[in-house]
Amino acid sequence: MDINKILDYQKKDFEIIKLEFSLNESPNKKAINQILSVVKETQDSSAELEKNAEEILAQFNNLKKTYADNISTFLTLSKKNSEKLNEMEVDGMSNLMHTMSSNLSILEKKLLSLAEKVSGVLSGYEMAKKKYQKAREKHKEFKDKFDKEQSVFKPQVDKLLAELKSMEKGIEAKYLAKYKEKRQDNIFPVFVKFTSNACGGCMMELPSAQIEKLKKESILECENCHRLMFLE
Ligand SMILES: [Zn+2]
Repeated sequence: MDINKILDYQKKDFEIIKLEFSLNESPNKKAINQILSVVKETQDSSAELEKNAEEILAQFNNLKKTYADNISTFLTLSKKNSEKLNEMEVDGMSNLMHTMSSNLSILEKKLLSLAEKVSGVLSGYEMAKKKYQKAREKHKEFKDKFDKEQSVFKPQVDKLLAELKSMEKGIEAKYLAKYKEKRQDNIFPVFVKFTSNACGGCMMELPSAQIEKLKKESILECENCHRLMFLE
């Protein structure tokens, strides 16, 4: 196994990592992420407003029903000829009228507070809409800038990827597969030197049994950082 080929491969791969990193660190990219989090907040607050609106609608429907009930009671009472009512019925009617009048005044207060809530929800919606529109415009602005940046990087990355691909031939398949697997797990560098009885990645010292194993197999996975240690 030619460790130098693997190390050259890893070095080339590092150039891609650096390019990707600088692209990720781009202020345009950061601005885009920030905008996306504003959009997410706006969506959350819109969902909250929608929930409020639903509650208000349910309250309104309840009030409407109470109001209709009151009106129908009133109509029933008013159709009765007062001269034909006995004393008990007159008392009952006067009680009903009293209850109704207090019901109506409660209803009025409730409707007023509901109207306030409605206007609160409406202005909330209006604010969310404006915020969202502004975020969309900003997103487009930074996205265009970032796309331009990316179009500069892409040919460089593509070139490196092609070079990397052609280097794969020289590497033993099982180590290449291991390398790719580790890279997927965001482990880098994957191959590290075994030096001063320790892993060159995390510096953890190896027990002698492990050192013997490494000497026998020439490559060994570190139990601590999961990098692949090699003997020079
Ligand atoms: Zn290690």
